[in-house]
Amino acid sequence: MQQQVQDIKLYIDGEFVEAESQATFENISPFTNEKINMVASGNKADIEKAAKAAKKAFKGEWGNLKLDERLAYVYKIADLIDEHIEEIAPLESFDTGLPISQTRKMVARAANNFRFYANMVKSHLYGEAYQVDDEFINYTVHKPVGIAGLITPWNAPFMLETWKIAPALATGNTVILKPAEWSPLTANRLAEIIDKAGLPDGVFNVVHGFGETAGASLVAQPDVELISFTGETTTGSEIMKNGADALKRFSMELGGKSPIIVFDDADFDRALDACTWGIFSFNGERCTANSRLYLHESIADEFIEKLKQRVDNIKVGDPLEDNTQVGPLIHQKHYNNVKKYLGIAEEEGCTLYSGHISEDLSRGNYVAPTIILNANNDKRVVQEEIFGPVIAAMTFKDEAEVIELANDVRYGLAGYVWTKDIQRGHRVAQAIDAGMLWVNSQNVRDLRTPFGGSKHSGIGREGGYYAFEFYTEQQIIHVAIKDHHIPQFGK
Ligand code: NAD
Repeated sequence: MQQQVQDIKLYIDGEFVEAESQATFENISPFTNEKINMVASGNKADIEKAAKAAKKAFKGEWGNLKLDERLAYVYKIADLIDEHIEEIAPLESFDTGLPISQTRKMVARAANNFRFYANMVKSHLYGEAYQVDDEFINYTVHKPVGIAGLITPWNAPFMLETWKIAPALATGNTVILKPAEWSPLTANRLAEIIDKAGLPDGVFNVVHGFGETAGASLVAQPDVELISFTGETTTGSEIMKNGADALKRFSMELGGKSPIIVFDDADFDRALDACTWGIFSFNGERCTANSRLYLHESIADEFIEKLKQRVDNIKVGDPLEDNTQVGPLIHQKHYNNVKKYLGIAEEEGCTLYSGHISEDLSRGNYVAPTIILNANNDKRVVQEEIFGPVIAAMTFKDEAEVIELANDVRYGLAGYVWTKDIQRGHRVAQAIDAGMLWVNSQNVRDLRTPFGGSKHSGIGREGGYYAFEFYTEQQIIHVAIKDHHIPQFGK
């Protein structure tokens, strides 16, 4: 796997610039653990500069555009991404270790995010009107909030960034993006694309850097009205504490430990396909991964046997090769963390069944697809998010028991139910405390529907018109259309 990548800068006020402090950090390849390039490392001064530019654009050229003019830019970004899929997808794989067959789809989805939100704003961003007898007409309007601060993770960076940028821009906000420091390349490429699309200066800004410096400064910046954050639950609560004094508006998309429940009447083969894909795709670094497998005891042995065969056969390899199914984890620190959990599993009395990694991959952060056996809900590896290609397999006797087990974690992002009994499918899905459930399905997203988690997996919903609640301010205008009674104090 070879790519030559230039050092990258910040993108502020329509220009690619060094950090004010001139500081840089190394971006490391997950495949070789060698340096890919250097990245400008922003901090408070750069966030201030970006906020000034974003405010000027919001009050000026961008804020004054007609809707169709604004949306034309958003469509243009979508078209440019589509034109460059074959270049962005390898860059994403190179930077993150995600297999190319998967990043191609993610980049195509990213383009679609822009198109989708442009369409949504055009067709669904409307207010309401309330007539009060013949005295009043009260109506609502949606206004952009101002500067949107977007803080994103490394696990599907390009896709997740666009998921926030698209609704923020389409609804008329300006943006400061703080991408994850472990995956800066495609955020920079996106800045180049947006630059090429010709958006007015300052509408879109990228400040690379660390969470504790660039990220924290963004959260504290008083002109940044809202923070949309995707990342770990602990980071989310830290950000909320730091933004409390400035009364920031927050959207929180956080961690998960999602159950997949397979009943004895399920379509066995399809459930197996979905279970395998749901945990081992995206290298297991997937917020909605089905990391807890609950099998009805009558099918458990056969299911686990077949899952072991899948694990044996999964192609672990170079992320830039078309047939690779699992690539290296993003960073050595994350690799060590996932390995630590495998150690904890063994200390807790579980046994591990792992697939194969060929010796020529030894320089990369490879963790073989792994099943944790003899697990139960008391184990840390069942309660805590591992965020790697690791699934804990457990059994259950009946519906009531499995609902209790499924709900017995602090997370509530997603869940998957497999049964041919339609009543049970709905019943169990509705009984699970999570934001998103799939019945007899893998994780297929419908962008029109709400995306988000409950419990410690998040606050608020993105997707569809739900994003409007976050990215716009609703205003109510009360208009008297007749002379109503006004008390006459002191007359
Ligand atoms: P992370 O929380 O370590 O970092 C996410 C972002 O926050 C990065 O850009 C980081 O620089 C920044 N950050 C860190 N500390 C900060 C601070 N104090 N102030 C401001 N910004 C700060 O998360 P990660 O390791 O990059 O991503 C993995 C996590 O993301 C997992 O827990 C996963 O479940 C979660 N995730 C959730 C969803 C979802 O939609 N619910 C989607 C993808 C990933």
